[in-house]
Amino acid sequence: MKKHNFSAGPCILPEEVLKKASEAVLNFNDDNLSLIEISHRSKPFVAVMEKAKSLVLELLQLENKGYKVLFLQGGASTQFLMTAYNLLNKKAAYLNTGTWADKAIKEAKLFGELVEVDSSKSDSFKYIPKGYQIPVDADYFHCTSNNTIFGTQMKEFPEFDGVNVCDMSSDIFSRQLDFSKFDLIYAGAQKNMGPAGTTLIVIKEEILGKVERVIPSMLDYQNHIDKESMFNTPSVFAIYVSMLNLEWLKDLGGIPFIEKVNNKKAALIYNEIDRNPLFEGFAAKEDRSTMNATFTLTDENLKETFDSLCKEAGINGINGHRSVGGYRASMYNALPLYSVQALVDVMQDLEKNNK
Ligand SMILES: *Cc1c(COP(=O)(O)O)cnc(C)c1O
Repeated sequence: MKKHNFSAGPCILPEEVLKKASEAVLNFNDDNLSLIEISHRSKPFVAVMEKAKSLVLELLQLENKGYKVLFLQGGASTQFLMTAYNLLNKKAAYLNTGTWADKAIKEAKLFGELVEVDSSKSDSFKYIPKGYQIPVDADYFHCTSNNTIFGTQMKEFPEFDGVNVCDMSSDIFSRQLDFSKFDLIYAGAQKNMGPAGTTLIVIKEEILGKVERVIPSMLDYQNHIDKESMFNTPSVFAIYVSMLNLEWLKDLGGIPFIEKVNNKKAALIYNEIDRNPLFEGFAAKEDRSTMNATFTLTDENLKETFDSLCKEAGINGINGHRSVGGYRASMYNALPLYSVQALVDVMQDLEKNNK
């Protein structure tokens, strides 16, 4: 039996997506060629790219609103600098909610003045700051919708009249939002969209062309838009598997459907964390992430027992990030409710054993 995979990323993908992906590696479209040995400019692959892009816009309800979809390489980490390269003229505003936001800030500082509108760094990023002011003259405002490492998630987004940029790597396609509030959304595929190797960018074309600096071709959004994500060879396999995964999501009922499942999974684990005296949640309750639940044991001496119970139950990937410790259960779209139940059962077994 497949393990219960709580890996934070690369993440779990649906069984049927993995099956279709493996078939395409051997024989794509019944053409007796592998998906990964045909030209990215061939008709069958161009069709994959087009399908992937249209599914993104459809699922996010961003069709016919001036958005372009790109699939680029370099991970979300390259977006930290690309956003600033393309958008920062004088001043940018950033909300610091965790390690990834911190890294984005570090890169953006290379390009101009940076205003950190608020930060929860001094409190181990346990909460999402609220009530901060964004300077009206900022070229853009940047935030991170879900804090993968510390397990917090923005439930509300500030009203900023200018350009809004969001790193949605670890919760894109997981919940309903008014995505049209954002002018630039980016996400590394490997958290909730597909395998590692491609990065999704959804961008309103009208925000480009406003900086004075010369932008190298590979880092220039406009160049990638003009070349339809084929300026250089795209990650054909990662894009194909992402497309399959988006199809899977659409067939299930899209974001409205999966959001309900995700809320159920999150409620199940958080209820147990709060009920079970052997566990303690890490993140502030009102900011808890539906994707990554972070928690610790109240008695560190139980670690060995808990870890071996998890192992016996086939639970994989719940060790906390090396910078936080404790545990982190990542519950991305493809993780079934019964996997969360399996983890909750183990948490209850630990309690029984300990009585
Ligand atoms: C994982 C992650 C990143 C980094 O993604 P890479 O694709 O590995 O560069 C950035 N932001 C968030 C929110 C993440 O979870």
